Amino acid sequence: DTNEMLLEFESRSQNESFARTVVAAFAAGLDPTIEELADIKTAVSEAVTNSIIHGYGNCVGTIRMKCSIRGNELTVEIEDDGVGIENISKAMEPLYTTRPELERSGMGFSFMEAFMDELEVESVVGRGTIVRMKK
Ligand code: ATP
Ligand code: MG
Repeated sequence: DTNEMLLEFESRSQNESFARTVVAAFAAGLDPTIEELADIKTAVSEAVTNSIIHGYGNCVGTIRMKCSIRGNELTVEIEDDGVGIENISKAMEPLYTTRPELERSGMGFSFMEAFMDELEVESVVGRGTIVRMKK
């Protein structure tokens, strides 16, 4: 059983809750528990917020959310064409943030890792970032 969707939206803060709601509606096809759904929504919020704040900063760009269900597994990809990440493993360390002045705590990737079963990050400086998560 396979199902796929693609959502493209502008990197505006109000679209974080929009993306979270859409992924929850799509994931409903898997008949998830309330807890699983909450985990997925939190992980997507973190990834989308990162694209808005870090990927695009003060600019507005396009964020793509690709979701697929294969069998009993949900895959979500959040893609931006923003600044990219220079050192991915460093960026993924708990408490590491490049924006402490924005009261960021550096926990976004740690939450994505904790709440999802798999997390992969691909990024090219000057090109953008893809965060792929499975549950
Ligand atoms: P928090 O998520 O707790 O508010 P944070 O966003 O700084 O803080 P993480 O989400 O773990 O923490 O991200 C760590 C760092 O990785 C960020 O500070 C930023 O430098 C970089 N980063 C994450 N996502 C992106 C992205 N889409 N584009 C560019 N840089 C990113
Ligand atoms: Mg973050």
